[in-house]
Amino acid sequence: MAPEAEAGRLSSRYRRLVTLVGATVVVILALLIAREFENQVARDLELSATIARERLSAIETVVRIADAHVDGLRAAMERSLGAGAPPRDPRPGAVALRTEAAPVDLLGAPKAADAHRLGTLTVVPSRAHGRAGFAAEADAAFDLFVASGAVHGGNAFLKWSYFFSEARDMVAIYPWMDIAANGPRDVPIIDVFDGYFGYDVYRMVTPAENRASAAVWVPVYFDAGNAGLMVSHNAPVVVGGAFRGMVGTDVLLSALSDRLLAPSMPDLGIVVVDQSGSVVADTDRVAATADRITPAADLLPAALDAIPLGRFVRHGDTYASAVKVAGTPWTAVTLVPAGVVLGDAAFGVLPYCLYLVLLAATLGLAFAAIGRRFVAPAIGLVATIESQARGERAEVAAVPPAWKPWIDRVLALFAEQRATLDSLHRAESKSAAVIDVALDAVVTTDAAGRVVDFNPAAEAMFGIPRADAVGKPIGGLIVPHALREAHEAGMARFGRTRQSHVLGRRVELQALHASGRIFPVELQIHALAGAGDVAYAAYVRDLTEQRAVAAALADQREKLHQAEKLTAMGSLLAGLAHELNNPLAIVTAQTSLLEELASDPPIRARATKIRAAADRCGRIVRTFLAMARKQAPQRSSVDVRAIVTAALDILAYGLRSNGVTVETRLPADLPAVEADSDQLGQVVINMVVNAQQAFGDRTGERRIWVSVGRGDGTVEIEIADNGPGIPEAVRGRIFEAFFTTKPVGVGTGIGLAVCRSIVEAHGGRIEAGERPGGGARFRILLPAATGTLAAPDAAAATAAASDGRRPVLVVDDEHEVAESLADFLELDGCAVTMAHSIADGLAAIAGRRFEVVFCDLRMPGGGGTAFWTEVARRDPALAERFVFVTGDMVAGPETLRGAAAGRPVRILEKPFDRPAIRALLAEVADAGAPS
Ligand code: ADP
Repeated sequence: MAPEAEAGRLSSRYRRLVTLVGATVVVILALLIAREFENQVARDLELSATIARERLSAIETVVRIADAHVDGLRAAMERSLGAGAPPRDPRPGAVALRTEAAPVDLLGAPKAADAHRLGTLTVVPSRAHGRAGFAAEADAAFDLFVASGAVHGGNAFLKWSYFFSEARDMVAIYPWMDIAANGPRDVPIIDVFDGYFGYDVYRMVTPAENRASAAVWVPVYFDAGNAGLMVSHNAPVVVGGAFRGMVGTDVLLSALSDRLLAPSMPDLGIVVVDQSGSVVADTDRVAATADRITPAADLLPAALDAIPLGRFVRHGDTYASAVKVAGTPWTAVTLVPAGVVLGDAAFGVLPYCLYLVLLAATLGLAFAAIGRRFVAPAIGLVATIESQARGERAEVAAVPPAWKPWIDRVLALFAEQRATLDSLHRAESKSAAVIDVALDAVVTTDAAGRVVDFNPAAEAMFGIPRADAVGKPIGGLIVPHALREAHEAGMARFGRTRQSHVLGRRVELQALHASGRIFPVELQIHALAGAGDVAYAAYVRDLTEQRAVAAALADQREKLHQAEKLTAMGSLLAGLAHELNNPLAIVTAQTSLLEELASDPPIRARATKIRAAADRCGRIVRTFLAMARKQAPQRSSVDVRAIVTAALDILAYGLRSNGVTVETRLPADLPAVEADSDQLGQVVINMVVNAQQAFGDRTGERRIWVSVGRGDGTVEIEIADNGPGIPEAVRGRIFEAFFTTKPVGVGTGIGLAVCRSIVEAHGGRIEAGERPGGGARFRILLPAATGTLAAPDAAAATAAASDGRRPVLVVDDEHEVAESLADFLELDGCAVTMAHSIADGLAAIAGRRFEVVFCDLRMPGGGGTAFWTEVARRDPALAERFVFVTGDMVAGPETLRGAAAGRPVRILEKPFDRPAIRALLAEVADAGAPS
């Protein structure tokens, strides 16, 4: 959920809470107000009822007075009639109705007393006459007038009081009124009189309708005497169980209505209804002023029996309640206009409404304040926490200062946590990156040995994609099949004993590549504690290349070692050769002389052979020296056939005596080779000697094939034999220096090594292999030269003897060398002077002029260069004509060039021969004669 949504949820919750609390309070208050309103209405209606009762009590007073009055009349009549006064007979013949203003004795003399109280005594003389009791009744009626006068005087609401005789011959009415004048004009008076007895007023008290002989209230009727609407209260007069007539009194409706008026409550309405549904009295005086009887329906909001007694019920816009009027058959209905009651009630609850408004406002303000001061900041805090928790740096909501520390603390906490997480994350990704870029394979597994992670180096090393490796047991992935059993046994043992030979140690093992290749690895396994699901980490290094490099290194080291041996041997040989040069020079020189001077041809032939062998010795020594010096060979365009022939020549005797047949094939069209012929000859000799030696003491045919041919830009020399061949096992090593399969004293093991270095120095190569018919075969491939074949030994051919004897000085501390050189020089027509030290030399030049000086380079007392320098000082021209003799072609030329100072440097290398000496003599001669 978005933080806004969360905050929104909280604030809507808060709003709901506020609404709930507010609504509850408002509802409670509204209920209270409604209840109070109802109470107000009830109180108002109660008040109305009270006032109505008050008003009605006025009417009840009237009723009580009327009741008491009628009771009095009745008692008086019954007493008078019961007293048994002798009834007087009316006068006969008086049939006409007579009315008199009393007191008059209708039948006799009027009563003197109370003469001012007069009523009307209406008599029908014809009926009264002769009736027993008439006189008594008339007397009693007269007494009624007196009594009624007293009562009427204080109660003006009483209109008439009267006695009707059951005999229907007399009606007494107080106060006086003229019955004839009051009755309808066109009706005979006797009918009017009789009509009186047809009224409810009389009928209702007759025994037929009033068995109980009780006093009754007669419903509203219009007064026969035109006094208006009225009600009557009447009672029967019963004497000795006989109904003798009726007494009663009338009350005017207007008088009753007057009594209902209640000025304190003008809106209050009271309607009194009689037993026949006519209005007896009402506060609006409608019934009193109408010219007809007002039915209750005209004034009531509902039918009377729908209005309950003693309790208000609302009908339309009026509240109505009924009550019985005591002592009457009447019902009084109290009417209160609803508008007034409700208005009053509303006014009554107005303060409560005000309280409600105030409370609502207070609540609203309180909630708003709480919302602003607490809820909104709290929601802001929540939103901040939410967004911070999600790592969003959302803007922090503005909060009141009181909340600022909280927000700050939350932000600080989150910042701290973020920083911690960041650094954790950085550390994690750093280590992940480190593992990812590690050159070693890093494989982590769980406790059961299942792969958890497989870094890119592991993917490359084992040829297994990470996705394929993860979850698989490591043993099945990278452990070779042959080792799996041991691996599983080791794992199981570790599971049991927690002891491992491997854990934490570097071990070298074989591993399996996805292709099935098995390769060497170095492995280190660590148990990891507290690294989640990772229990072990294995670091694996592929040793394939390292092993290859180590092998190559060992090989090179061996080669270097060989080379060093060769170099050591070379320098040893160089020293040896140097030492050999001097005696060789003598041998060569002396045999040359012998060859020339001997007159016996066989001796000369022998001398020739000795000289050739000595020459060869010299060349071999020079080859060693050249090898030791690593000098470039002395190249010239040579004919390989000649070299081969010469080599075989040298070896011919030995081969023959060993029973070896040599077969050569030397084709005519062959390119020349840029080569050092001596060195090449040495190579061929070496190979042929090897072949010869390979035969050992084998019986059977011994044959060597030496052939020369041309290849693609090459000249090839092939030397093959039908010997045992080179065993496969040693074929790779035969070119190593000092590798030999021959017994001590026979083989040195440097032959082929030297051969190869010579051939390679010529830009060629040697191949060793098997001859197709058995035996060994060596092929020497040399780059063919573009030039023509070299001419025969030019130096020798063109060497010309000098004419005359040239004065030559030979300076050499070794007498025999000096003498040999002198022998040669003298053969070439030189007059040689010998000096055996620098001092002798200087003495010699002081005494004689020399054309050429041959000077040994290495001599005691500063050597040849010191002598040279001194000669140059004394005789600069002579210094120009120096030839230095040296066997050291390594340091010699260098020493000389240092001391030359512009003079030509000429060197005669030991052992020397005639052509070299002749050439140098010629060269000095060409440089010009001495001045
Ligand atoms: P050496 O001849 O002193 O032993 P080389 O370097 O000339 O030294 O030869 C090395 C080895 O090569 C020999 O010891 C021999 O075993 C082997 N070899 C050379 N030439 C032949 C050949 N023609 N037939 C058989 N083996 C040969």
